[in-house]
Amino acid sequence: MSNSAPSSNVFWYSLKDPNQSESLSGQIKTKTVVVGGGMAGLSCAQKLHEAGLEVVVIEKDFCGSGASGKTSGFITPDSEIELGSLLDTYGPEKAKRIWEFVISGVENIRKNIEQYGISCDYQKQDSLFVANNTSGFKSVKKEYEARRQLEYVSTLYDNTEIKKVVGGSMYTGGVRYPETFGMNSYLYCQAIKEILRTSGVTIYEQTFAKSITGHEVLTERGRITAEHIIVCADRFIPDLGALEKEIYHVQTFLGVTKPLTNEQVKKIFPEEKMMVWDTDLVYNYFRLTGDNRLLIGGGDLLYTYAHNVSNNTSRFGRRLKNYIKKKFPTIDIEMEYLWPGMLGVSKDLLPIIGLDKDNEHVFYVGAATGLPWASALGRYAAERLIHGRNEFDEDFSPRRKFVIGHRLQSLLGAPPTYALSHGIAKYL
Ligand SMILES: Cc1cc2nc3c(=O)[nH]c(=O)nc-3n(C[C@H](O)[C@H](O)[C@H](O)COP(=O)(O)OP(=O)(O)OC[C@H]3O[C@@H](n4cnc5c(N)ncnc54)[C@H](O)[C@@H]3O)c2cc1C
Repeated sequence: MSNSAPSSNVFWYSLKDPNQSESLSGQIKTKTVVVGGGMAGLSCAQKLHEAGLEVVVIEKDFCGSGASGKTSGFITPDSEIELGSLLDTYGPEKAKRIWEFVISGVENIRKNIEQYGISCDYQKQDSLFVANNTSGFKSVKKEYEARRQLEYVSTLYDNTEIKKVVGGSMYTGGVRYPETFGMNSYLYCQAIKEILRTSGVTIYEQTFAKSITGHEVLTERGRITAEHIIVCADRFIPDLGALEKEIYHVQTFLGVTKPLTNEQVKKIFPEEKMMVWDTDLVYNYFRLTGDNRLLIGGGDLLYTYAHNVSNNTSRFGRRLKNYIKKKFPTIDIEMEYLWPGMLGVSKDLLPIIGLDKDNEHVFYVGAATGLPWASALGRYAAERLIHGRNEFDEDFSPRRKFVIGHRLQSLLGAPPTYALSHGIAKYL
């Protein structure tokens, strides 16, 4: 086996050259401008365009260059927060309403793939949330019970049955559910960009929004005047001077191995391939691509809440490799690519949406914590404009109550505030 270090580039970017749109120079006018060409921004632009509204998208780099194009492509309603936690915190009616909303995001993405025949390594796979130990099994069981209570199909595996669906001998149980899939999210973003462009949406890449004042977005070489400005910039929103206390980021690392042999695949998934994540606070997750590469991700507390993107990928290469070695002792993997990525988060792990506090023409969408969330929120922001949709405005408002308020946050600093808040949101 080769011991060469994995490349620290994003593997997905090597699969297709970004076919970039032109950047904006000069002055233009439009009805709506969407800032950010990730899942949220593209979904928002698509819905606005379908409703017949004139829309321009601006993206500081290329579409999918933020979190959306770097992901492990798990398309499941579960992302940073499980249904069981929602049920505990908000009760059955609100938990179900929120869960149905995020499921609508899963279905938006699936519908686009099917309708436009998008080639993005679409892999129908069930989701499997696995327990690392006895207390993890309590979380898994709680999730199963929450799903049953709210009438969602799922299967519970105990520490004997789990071995039939995921090999090795280290998991103590799991909950499995259907209607989920994996995909290459970078190819998906690029495909949606092309679909929008060919249907008449103007997309400017390499166009950085420097500031927003009134109806105007100032970019490096131009300016856009718009009736409505929708900022889908996720963790970058605070850089525009907004929601600085409400949105932070977490960092995770993702590796891709060379294609596994059929024998190795059978050792991991004796029956069929699934998308797996475990019960730790900073969890590990893995799935197989269509060509049987193992995608494996994870992090640790030191780096999860770090201010800046870490380039210390070799440390994570070893960690991820050791994770596989521990869970599947007979499999030796060779990591080919490994990269870090950051995603926007709020303190309670629900998204943040809302009007700018001083500028009623500007609406923010951030802290999506998941592609289905981002898709559903992007469409919500569009529907808010088109039909006045508003049923989640209060639930996801930046002004909702958080366990740690602004004053204590200023004393603690962002990393401890967010780490503590997330522990509370998930476990208490
Ligand atoms: C490594 C990794 C793995 C992940 N795996 C999964 C997964 O398997 N499943 C899942 O559901 N979620 C996953 N996520 C989370 C998911 O990627 C994000 O929650 C989601 O992509 C957020 O989408 P978004 O459109 O809101 O943000 P982004 O994709 O970050 O889009 C925001 C865009 O705005 C642009 N922008 C920012 N500021 C400006 C500006 N001033 N001017 C112009 N443009 C600007 C950025 O360049 C960026 O393209 C993962 C994230 C990471 C980092």
